[in-house]
Amino acid sequence: MTAVHAPGTPVVEDGRLVSTSPATGAEAGRLPLATPTDVARAVDRARGAGQWWAGLGFGGRRERLLRWRSLLARRIEELAELVHTEGGKPVADAVVEILTAIEHVDWAARNARRVLGPRRVRSRLILAEFSAHLEYQPYGVVGVIGPWNYPVFTPLGSAAYALAAGNAVVFKPSEYTPAVGQWLVDTFAEVVPEHPVFTAVHGLGDVGAALCRSGVDKLAFTGSTATAKKVMAACAESLTPVLVEAGGKDAMIVDSDADLDAAAEACVWGALTNAGQTCIGIERVYAVEPVFDAFVGKVVERAGRLTVGAEAADIGPITMPGQLDVIRRHIDDALARGGRAVLGGADAVRPPYVHPTVLVDVPEDSAAVREETFGPTLTVNRVRDADEAVARANALPYGLGGSVFGRRRAVAIARRLRSGMAAVNSTLAFAGMSTLPFGGVGDSGFGRIHGEDGLREFGRAKAVTRRRARSLLPAMTFERTPADVARLVKATKLMYGRRH
Ligand code: NDP
Repeated sequence: MTAVHAPGTPVVEDGRLVSTSPATGAEAGRLPLATPTDVARAVDRARGAGQWWAGLGFGGRRERLLRWRSLLARRIEELAELVHTEGGKPVADAVVEILTAIEHVDWAARNARRVLGPRRVRSRLILAEFSAHLEYQPYGVVGVIGPWNYPVFTPLGSAAYALAAGNAVVFKPSEYTPAVGQWLVDTFAEVVPEHPVFTAVHGLGDVGAALCRSGVDKLAFTGSTATAKKVMAACAESLTPVLVEAGGKDAMIVDSDADLDAAAEACVWGALTNAGQTCIGIERVYAVEPVFDAFVGKVVERAGRLTVGAEAADIGPITMPGQLDVIRRHIDDALARGGRAVLGGADAVRPPYVHPTVLVDVPEDSAAVREETFGPTLTVNRVRDADEAVARANALPYGLGGSVFGRRRAVAIARRLRSGMAAVNSTLAFAGMSTLPFGGVGDSGFGRIHGEDGLREFGRAKAVTRRRARSLLPAMTFERTPADVARLVKATKLMYGRRH
């Protein structure tokens, strides 16, 4: 008997991973399943390829990465269509995702030399007879494990920066989006055909686990907090450094002097884009009492207009069928504890879709406020003032992004959010800003992709000192005399002993 799977559930057939559309069940891709030996072989091949790639230098890599960027831009419709078919994401959302990813490829390629290349740094008086040099050298092979919700933007946030820094990359896409992952490495191979610098291995979680244990020199993981802990444990066995981009429960704060129309528009998009399956999506809103009712009215009016469906709709299907139960549980729990649905609600979950749902006055200890929902739902709670909003926003172990709407205090409030990023008078904008680092605190992970920090994440600092003169005060030699040591004591007091 053949098992019946919900559309979108990946299945393994004859040693192949088959991904299907969550909306229609149509096959999207059929990729060879990697064994642990295949993973080890991919990493071995990448090691040789990485040496060649590193040897190209910043200029050679920049030229090739920019050629790949151009290819991605020219074929954006083709890739958007594949993202749509495989994950269910509306084509328009896919276009925005790919555009943002292309911007990161461009910036990483153009800035790697400036940020990572060899440079002189200042020496200090204590070792004035030495010059100091710094550069960031590639690790070698970086393993990238990615999620399904942004199958282009998220893995490239690590891979493009790792490649620009001179590493080879072995990529394990999510089992829900292997075809998109393969498309990325295939197109890269079109512009870099010489060696397997960027390759993919496919399979379920065990293939990701094998990649952690394969001898990669660094592992960049993006996914849930629970899986991040398993990845760290596996990497700990070989002291493999890890970068963790994990889940979130981002809050938006609406202050009393906010432009409520702009806030409602950004809130609806930030919460419901990609059917709410966004790590930095707005899941909770804290609006101050004087503007609460007006704000909720504007959100409901806008969210109520959105269309739900497979084609040309604002909100597509839930990509991972199993997530429907989580979303249903969060809505039911919020309502059972006294929250009210002002849009959607108990009957919003209609597989494979979830209709926009806005819940108000939801107890702060309910699952809908505390756990990642990953659906087109939103809680909006009233607070006395911005201080209470900040306290509530900061009350969870997660700390990824966040948003603040307001005028006078907005930036100050954004700075007080316990998160890696915040957007003032917009939502999610920081993700597309390639000059800024991206990453979380607490249960949302550590390390940074994007920007200068994102480039440095994929290079080992290499520090070199060079003697340029004889030491006047010999310290690091057994040839020093008691008189030299006495002079060292005197010099220490002179240089550092002053009272402030
Ligand atoms: P998962 O944690 O379920 O999976 C992430 C990746 O890890 C997948 O490729 C998965 O493979 C793989 N994996 C599963 N088990 C293991 C294991 N034991 N060892 C190594 N790898 C393993 O997350 P989702 O794919 O469901 O993605 C959604 C999550 O990602 C959300 O929490 C979201 O917030 C977060 N996310 C964070 C972002 C950020 O930048 N901070 C950006 C985007 C998403 P397989 O799919 O085959 O199981």
